[in-house]
Order: sequence, then C-alpha cells, then structure tokens
Amino acid sequence: MTNRKIPLAAVIGSPVAHSRSPALHTHWLKKYGLHGHYVPMDVSQHDLPEVLAALPKMGFVGANVTIPHKETVLKLANVVTDRAALIGAANTLIFRSDGKMHADNTDGYGFIENLRHNAPGWDPKSGPAAVLGAGGAARAVLASLLDVGVPEIRLSNRTRARSEALRKEFGAKINVYDWVKAGNMLDTAATVVNATSLGMDGKSEMRVPLDALSPNALVTDLVYTPLETEFLRTAKTAGCMTVDGLGMLLFQAAPGFERWFGVRPEVDEEARRVVLGL
Ligand code: NAP
Repeated sequence: MTNRKIPLAAVIGSPVAHSRSPALHTHWLKKYGLHGHYVPMDVSQHDLPEVLAALPKMGFVGANVTIPHKETVLKLANVVTDRAALIGAANTLIFRSDGKMHADNTDGYGFIENLRHNAPGWDPKSGPAAVLGAGGAARAVLASLLDVGVPEIRLSNRTRARSEALRKEFGAKINVYDWVKAGNMLDTAATVVNATSLGMDGKSEMRVPLDALSPNALVTDLVYTPLETEFLRTAKTAGCMTVDGLGMLLFQAAPGFERWFGVRPEVDEEARRVVLGL
C-alpha cells in the first residue's frame, strides 16, 4: 500500500472521442513504467471554468486542450507562456502545486521538431517559406518558423482578410499572396507548408498549382489523414523531400507528458504505430 497520489491528465475538448492522445499517453506511461492515467473528457464551453477549477483537487496534474477550448483557456489561466500568447491559443495546461494554472502551446514546437527529425539537413534559414492557410494551425506554424529564423514567409489563404490580419500581427517578414495566385509563392521557396484542411479525408483536394516547386524545397502537410496527401505525393514526384503531419502531433505531446509525469518520452516508430491504431 502507498499513500502516493497517482498523477492524472486528460484531453479536454468537445467532441473528443476521436482523439488519439489517450492511446499515445497511455502507451508512454506503460513504456516507462510510470504510475498515472490519461483520459478523454468531453466538456462543454459552459462547464469549462468549473471543470478546470475542480481537476487539480481530484489529482489532475495537467491537461491537453483541443477544439473548441484552445482560445478560451488563455483567459482562464493564471500564467500564459509567451508562445501561447503569440499564437493566441493553448494546447497544454499544467496545474502547478502553488494552485496556479499554466497554459502553453506546443504546436509550433511539434511542427519544428517533426521537420528537424524527419528532414535531415533542413535549414529554415536557407530561403523563404510558403504557407497555405491562415487558421489556428497556421498561427503556430508562422510563430515557430519566425522563431527559427526563416528570412521571409509567403502566406496565402482562401479568405485573404485572415492572412492580412496575420501579417499585421506577425510583422514585415510576412508577404501576403492572393489565393488564386498561391502557386506563384512556391517559386524559390525552401520550405512549403499546407496548413489548410484541404486534402484531409472527407474534404476537398488542394487545387493550388504546384508546378513552381523547386526540387530542393522541403514540403510538409499538417493533414495526417491520409498520411500521404495528394499535396505530398505531387511534391515527392517533383523531387522534393516531404514530411507528413503525424510527427507534429507526436512531438507536440511530449513536453506536456514530461511536465506531468517526469519523463521526456521518445517519439519513435512505435509511438507512430500507436497513434495510427496499428
Ligand atoms: P482552421 O482554424 O479551421 O483553419 C482551416 C484552414 O483551412 C483555413 O485557412 C481555411 O481557409 C482553410 N480551408 C478550409 N476549407 C478550405 C477550402 N475549401 N478551400 C481553401 N481553404 C480552405 O483549422 P486549423 O486548426 O488551422 O487546422 C488546419 C489543418 O491542420 C486541419 O486539417 C487540422 O487537422 C491540421 N492540424 C494538424 C496538426 C498536427 O499535429 N499535424 C495540428 C493542428 C492542425 P479560410 O480561412 O478561407 O476558411
């Protein structure tokens, strides 16, 4: 018998049943022989403040947050990291022993780590980046690309006003392209990112012409269902190095796991297989 509290963590969203985070964290807990549990929690916007206030009293050390709570939690947290404030959303909460709730965003970290691990030799400083999309995920991509020293980011989104708003927020290194001319921004781009939901199972295909892609470009897609999107397939045929979006999902989970359970988990083939349900 032990009186030691078993640390608990959760993924909070609505809906949340589809989330692969419980499978991943449970795999890591087992792999490292750690005490702890990680559970999915379907929580409404209305109940969120009350639930977050109660969780630490029940043994929860933290949580991941997903749609639709990623922005709301910034207002509820006592401490917000600079990167979460810059992105305007949080995906990782830590319930500190002093009673304070700490909100962080590890999506940008996950995005960059995925490229560093799966695209050996990739140098973000080697040339402009081209980013398609201006939603929540694109914000994390822009913040992290600027952080690692990309000299210029060409940005295009179906709704131009959203990319203009990001240019205002993220500064002069962002150049906005019209959606109908998005293909032009690929010319001489060293890093090319699909941060739209186009190409995802059940969504329309990306129709941006990719003829201007340089074979030296690194091309990545945030969509990971399917793992190899048409966008990545076309880029591979053009001779580009490509990286799928699943690694971003895995890497963004690692810092939270370490803070809650005390071990930095390894992102490896086994973790990929767990998330894929293989
Ligand atoms: P979001 O905030 O809803 O943004 C969706 C983006 O897709 C917007 O730029 C939107 O353009 C664009 N879009 C949607 N339908 C379109 C269409 N028919 N034609 C042109 N553009 C279209 O979503 P998000 O959170 O940024 O996520 C974007 C994608 O990234 C999703 O597929 C998500 O699953 C994926 N993601 C992956 C990871 C990972 O770990 N790999 C992490 C986060 C997100 P408008 O502004 O014009 O609507």
